[in-house]
Amino acid sequence: TKPQPDNHSTTSDTKWNSKGVVKGSHISDLYGENVYTIDKMAKSLSKSVYTNFIRQRLGSEKLKKSSADAIALAAKTWAIGHGATHFTHWFQPQTGATAEKHDSFLSLMNVTGSSEDGIVPMESFSGGQLLQSEPDASSFPSGGMRTTFEARGYTIWDTSSPMFVRNSPNNTKVLYIPSVYISYNGEALDEKTILLRSSTIISQTFCEFLSLLDPHSTQRRVVSTVGIEQEFFLIDKKSYDNRLDLRVTGRTIIGSLSSRHQQLEDHYFGKIPGNVLKTMSDFEVEAISLGIPIKTRHNEVAPSQFEIAPVFEEASIAIDHNLLTMDILHNAAEKNGLKTLFHEKPFQGINGSGKHCNWSLLTDNGENLLDPTDKPEENIRFILVLLAVLKGVLDCGPILCASISSSSNKHRLGANEAPPAIISVFLGSYLTEVLDSIEEGRKIKDFSIPQYKSIQIGGTELDLKVSRLPTICRDLTDRNRTSPFAFTGNKFEFRALGSKQSPSFPVTILNTAVSVAMQEIINDLKTLKGSNPTIPKNEVLEIIKKYIKLTKPVRFEGDNYSKEWIQIAEKRGLVNIKNPPEAYSYLMKPKYQEILVNKTKLFTVDELISRVHILNERYAKNLIIEGKTAQKIVNKYILPRAIEYKNKLANAANSTNKLGFNFLLEKTIIEDINTLIEPLFAYTRLFSQKISLLENNIETSNIEKSVLDVDEIISKGLIEIRSKVDKLEDILPKDMWPFPSYADILLNN
Ligand code: ADP
Ligand code: MG
Repeated sequence: TKPQPDNHSTTSDTKWNSKGVVKGSHISDLYGENVYTIDKMAKSLSKSVYTNFIRQRLGSEKLKKSSADAIALAAKTWAIGHGATHFTHWFQPQTGATAEKHDSFLSLMNVTGSSEDGIVPMESFSGGQLLQSEPDASSFPSGGMRTTFEARGYTIWDTSSPMFVRNSPNNTKVLYIPSVYISYNGEALDEKTILLRSSTIISQTFCEFLSLLDPHSTQRRVVSTVGIEQEFFLIDKKSYDNRLDLRVTGRTIIGSLSSRHQQLEDHYFGKIPGNVLKTMSDFEVEAISLGIPIKTRHNEVAPSQFEIAPVFEEASIAIDHNLLTMDILHNAAEKNGLKTLFHEKPFQGINGSGKHCNWSLLTDNGENLLDPTDKPEENIRFILVLLAVLKGVLDCGPILCASISSSSNKHRLGANEAPPAIISVFLGSYLTEVLDSIEEGRKIKDFSIPQYKSIQIGGTELDLKVSRLPTICRDLTDRNRTSPFAFTGNKFEFRALGSKQSPSFPVTILNTAVSVAMQEIINDLKTLKGSNPTIPKNEVLEIIKKYIKLTKPVRFEGDNYSKEWIQIAEKRGLVNIKNPPEAYSYLMKPKYQEILVNKTKLFTVDELISRVHILNERYAKNLIIEGKTAQKIVNKYILPRAIEYKNKLANAANSTNKLGFNFLLEKTIIEDINTLIEPLFAYTRLFSQKISLLENNIETSNIEKSVLDVDEIISKGLIEIRSKVDKLEDILPKDMWPFPSYADILLNN
């Protein structure tokens, strides 16, 4: 193969090239190389501009026009120094992807009135261009919002996320300006605006909580922190190109399982194959230069499945970084002849991919509010925060489920490998014992977990005084891979997210749910405090007990995949949602509108209606695409091949017969093929009818009902089609089968 040109950052070429790290250089030197960081701003701006910018970020000042102009000038100089020719507002419409429209820095200035009259080409970038841009909004989903007001949408610079220069595979460099996307009337058309709103809600609520617990507290800001583990498949690009289903829908909608797949459990944490490792390190060079703190990489359970994870960051930054991660990985794979699959369930019969969202709360003093301390008196805070999370998840389970529901993730959830759509919380046996002992007013049991045999916590006194709350040992958390929402030592892991989706909406709902629950706790604490200068701490225990009791139904330590859990959950009143449209419908129910619209003002009613419409619309469109793809595959590829093989067999039978031999074998195979292809043909007919029905309703308010009716038929039909086609795959000769098999795709590393 020819040597690849080096595509990486211009200024670090001496330390980094396409072969990776050059001897003697440090990976840390590359970190943030292509980001216009706060530090770089401080060095390139005047003090007054910089101060204005920082205060704007903290919410205490507006950004002056003169400051915006100065920042634009400095950013332009920095970006051009990094090879950029264009700039773009980079935003997150409700398509699940990011969007960008590049504008050149090039402008032509008309110079008149001097000896140099004429047109002068130059690079320009104004404060106005930095702050705001107006993309052609008509083609982004708005769920009817833009038509009700003005057909305009604006992108506005999100000053909380730094600008950066991105390097595309062909070496084009562009200054990216992270942005929100809103309508003329300021209503959210994107994912990020509501995420930022939820961050404000979190901060206000938890600061109030902290100052209530301790009037001397100095925290001014609390943020949610997020660390995202990203799973994906990497497969040979040529196999991918030969699979119509993968190309169009992102998953294989047919394909018979190979005899060896993941049974031997030999892939997880195995040796990373060479071309994959090359892809990952190409990805890392780019990611790290963009300030994405990538930390781990390893093989996952299924063949050709992998995972990467960064160090956690503030939620909105972590999410920007996750979206970039997917894109960079995609490019790195292409460069190495591979294709990344982010779909949640690209292959039936082996594990699908998730995105584990690790979540916690961090104060501006650097304290993790979910970090149990060994000082019992500080654990009041820990336990109350823990209870707020439990209460939030209990009250908002169905909308948390809505936030992770999609046409692709539904193949993973409840499919016996990922948690069912019942949202419950796993705390581990140690924290469970801590809460149980407090509730029952007894001593905490001597505690040991088999895998931590050496660690013993002696019978900690618990005489129901806060000063005697147990010491909580953070290392004592066991693991439960079946739970959708698990405590893991000093953070929660929301494990139900789809690998393909933006983490934005789930984190928004989680932030909001926990804030609303914390607000209830705050109200109880305020009542307790009355006119006292501080809360009588020993009485807080009553509030703790109350919430331990209230939140018990959401705690589940068993196997979330088991049938029994479904029954237990039903008895506890937990909702078990069957499909995405049903999940979306919860967002509009009065109980949740009260939370999302009235209590927290996360959404306006119009924003909420439009969001639910967009979710249903996207679901319906994916259903249509899959249905049509299945039709095409059956009619254009499978039926012709099956009929061809039947003819071959019939000819063979004829000859065999002429020679006087028995042709029963040929006849039996032909019969088998007939019983498979007749229903296949019938399904393609049925699909045509149902798909047009759905297509006619997609833009209307009937969409919700229509999608529910049609979903049932198409989703079941797809399963039926698949089972017939897969049997045909096992019957037809290899050289007659039109697509690469599972073994071709998955077992070539
Ligand atoms: P695990 O606990 O799943 O075995 P790690 O300890 O590596 O694995 O953590 C997984 C992810 O959780 C990483 O992205 C890590 O940065 C993130 N994480 C750790 N602490 C926090 C926190 N306080 N808030 C959010 N994410 C966190
Ligand atoms: Mg994990």
